[in-house]
This record gives sequence, C-alpha cells and structure tokens, in this order.
Amino acid sequence: MASSPASSLQKAVRDIPNFPKKGIVFKDITPILKDPRLFKIAIDLMGKNLSEKKIDYVVGIESRGFIFSTIIACRLKAGFVPVRKEGKLPYLTNKTAYALEYGEAVLEIHKDAIEKGSRVVIVDDLLATGGTALAAAQLVEGLGAKVVGLSFLIELSFLGGRKKLSRYGVHTVIRY
Ligand code: AMP
Repeated sequence: MASSPASSLQKAVRDIPNFPKKGIVFKDITPILKDPRLFKIAIDLMGKNLSEKKIDYVVGIESRGFIFSTIIACRLKAGFVPVRKEGKLPYLTNKTAYALEYGEAVLEIHKDAIEKGSRVVIVDDLLATGGTALAAAQLVEGLGAKVVGLSFLIELSFLGGRKKLSRYGVHTVIRY
C-alpha cells in the first residue's frame, strides 16, 4: 500500500537516544534533508495553506528552523527574519528570556526587523514544550506585528506545546 507523504517523512526521522543529554530522544531530521524528494515534501507540507494568509515575514528560529523558514519565505515571496540565540545578531535587538528544562535561555530579534502591523508566520523544525516558539511569538508581537500562524515539521504532542501556543494557529506535519 502506498504510504502518505507525511508518513514517508516520519519513517525517515531517526531517533537518537540520550542526545544531547541523557533522557532526551533527539529527532534527527538529516535523513529528510539529504533526500531531495523528502525535503521537498517537508517544505510543501509545512507551507501548506500559508499562501492564503498574506504573510509579510517568515520568522525562522535558530538554527534548524532556518533550514525550512528561508525556503518557505522565498516561496511565499515574503521576507525572512531570523530569531537567534543571545549575542549572535549584529544590530540593536529586543530580547526575551524563556525557561529551558534546566535554567533559561535568551532569544533575540533585530529591533527594526518587522514593521508594525505586519503579518508573520513563525517556523521551526520541532515543537516540544513550546517555550522557544512562545518566546519567538512574544518578540514578534513586541515589534507590533501579528503572528498569524506557526509551522513545525515535528510535534512531540505528549509535551503539550500546542496548549502553550493555543492563542495561535499551530500547524505540524509529523506528530508523536
Ligand atoms: P521547546 O521550546 O521545548 O518547544 O523546544 C523546541 C526547540 O528545541 C526546537 O528549536 C527544537 O529544535 C529543539 N528540540 C527540543 N526537543 C527536541 C528533540 N527531542 N529533538 C530535536 N530537537 C528538539
């Protein structure tokens, strides 16, 4: 029986136990990226229905989010804006701190990256607890722009990230 495009992606994701630390099962997407057919399916499915949303900017979250967000931005004829870890962006930034499993991390966006009232979609490879994506959404809203959706290749639904992002439209392609 022919498998669905999303299930062909799911089959290619490789589980790496105890990476980057004990107890985490890392979802390795590199087998998708190295296969041009699967990579295209991933981009097609992540970008599904976005063309109707009149997106001005696609915000990508460092670093694996960049792999998908730049291509989706080009396809939508939208701009690409990076959200990066602290200390990486060269110009003036707005910052937001968010909780990690242990401790906290800081994400930044350039102060002039997005004009007020712009329509934005946020893209990352994977939705886990949702802390990273929520921090990115807060940075976008801090610039006066509207988050019209978030798109992820993978959702670890047992971690409840979708609930944390319940005020936004969340689209995911592969769910565990
Ligand atoms: P969270 O803030 O908990 O939703 O974590 C999402 C971010 O951490 C994304 O940028 C992912 O790339 C990364 N991440 C979290 N858990 C995993 C995992 N099990 N496998 C791969 N990446 C992960």
